[in-house]
Amino acid sequence: MNPLSPPTRTLLGPGPSMVHPRVLAALAMPTVGHLDPYFQQVMDDVKQLLRDAFRTRNDFTIPVSGTGSAGMEAALCNFIEPGDNVLICVKGYFGERLYDMACRYTPNVDRLERPWGEAFDPDEVAAALKAKAYKLVAIVHCETSTGILQPGIEQIAAAAHDNGALLVLDTVASWPGVPVEVDAWGVDVTYAGSQKCLSAPPGLAPITLSRRARETLRNRKTKVANWYLDLSALEAYWGSGKRTYHHTAPVNMIYALREALILVQEEGLDNLHARHRNVAEMLWEGLEALGLPPRAPIGLRSPTLTTPRLPEGMDEAALRQRLLHEYNIEIAGGFGPLAGQIWRIGLMGHSARKENVTLLLAALRELQAGS
Ligand SMILES: *Cc1c(COP(=O)(O)O)cnc(C)c1O
Repeated sequence: MNPLSPPTRTLLGPGPSMVHPRVLAALAMPTVGHLDPYFQQVMDDVKQLLRDAFRTRNDFTIPVSGTGSAGMEAALCNFIEPGDNVLICVKGYFGERLYDMACRYTPNVDRLERPWGEAFDPDEVAAALKAKAYKLVAIVHCETSTGILQPGIEQIAAAAHDNGALLVLDTVASWPGVPVEVDAWGVDVTYAGSQKCLSAPPGLAPITLSRRARETLRNRKTKVANWYLDLSALEAYWGSGKRTYHHTAPVNMIYALREALILVQEEGLDNLHARHRNVAEMLWEGLEALGLPPRAPIGLRSPTLTTPRLPEGMDEAALRQRLLHEYNIEIAGGFGPLAGQIWRIGLMGHSARKENVTLLLAALRELQAGS
C-alpha cells in the first residue's frame, strides 16, 4: 500500500475548512494519558478559551467528543424527557436534522417552518412560544443548506425565557466567524463544531450551558437517554473537582482545539469577524461580476457561507469536478429543494483568506471563458 499522501486542497465548501499549520502541528504532539496532570491543565485552558470565544461566563463550557452533530444531539438529549413539548424551527436541512433528533427523545415535537432560503421573523417564533408551553425551542444560526443567518437571536431568547422555555442555538457554521454573544443574547445551550470557523479538523463539538440549562439538567426525573453524551457524567470528567473517567478524551484533538482557540485569541474576535466579513464581501462582489449573484438577501447573508444562484441549464456538477481536479478547489453543490440551483461556498476559519477568494474567482473566470 502507498504511504498516505492526501492532496493539498483549497477547502471552500461548507466544512471541513482548511486546518491552520499550527493546529496540524499540535495534533502531532506526544499523546499523554487523559488523566495526566499535564492534560488537566490543557483541559482547563480549553474551557477558558472556549468561554472567551463564546463570550460567556458559563461555568459548563466543554468540547463534546464527536462532530457538530454530537453537539446537536447533546443539546437535545440532555434537556428533553419523554413527554416534553419541544419546538423546532426548520428553515433548511440542519433544522430538519434537529427535528429528526428531537423526535427520538419525545413524541411531542412541533415544527415551525419557513421555506429553504428564508429566515424566521423573531416575532413569529415569539408568538409560537406564547401559544403553547414548550420546554425547549431550537433554531439554527447559520443554516448551512441555504447560507441564511438567522437574525434576532436575542429577541428569541427573551421570548423563550418569558414563556419558560430553553433556547438551543446551533452555531456550527457561524461561530466564531460571526458574532455569537452567548451571555448578551441569553442563549441557554449553544453548540458548534471544530472544523468550520475554527480552523481545526472535525472531531469536537464545543458546547456551553447557561445556569438555567444546568438547572433543567439537574431537575430531570429520568436518565438522559444517551450514555455517551450525558453532560452530567461528562461534568465529572471536565469539572473542577477530582476528575473521573467517563470515556477516553480524544487527547490530540483537544491539543488541536486548544491551538485553534489560541489563534482566535491572538487575532481577537472583532478582527476575526471583520476578516470573515471582508473576504465574504469580496466574494459576493466577484460572484456578481461573474453573473452568479448570491441568492440570500444581503441583510440575511452569512459571511461564512455564500450560496450563489446558478443560471438555468448550467452543468454545475461538472464545473465543481473541474474546480476540484484542475484547481484543487473544493466547493459544494446545493441539495434538497435547492439542488442544482445554488453552490455552497464556505469562507470559514483558515479558509477565510483573501488569497483563496482571488484563486476561486480566477478559476471560475477561466472555466467560464473556456466553456
Ligand atoms: C455542519 C453542521 C452541522 C453538523 O456538523 P457535523 O460536524 O457534520 O456533524 C450541524 N449544524 C450546522 C448548521 C452545520 O453546518
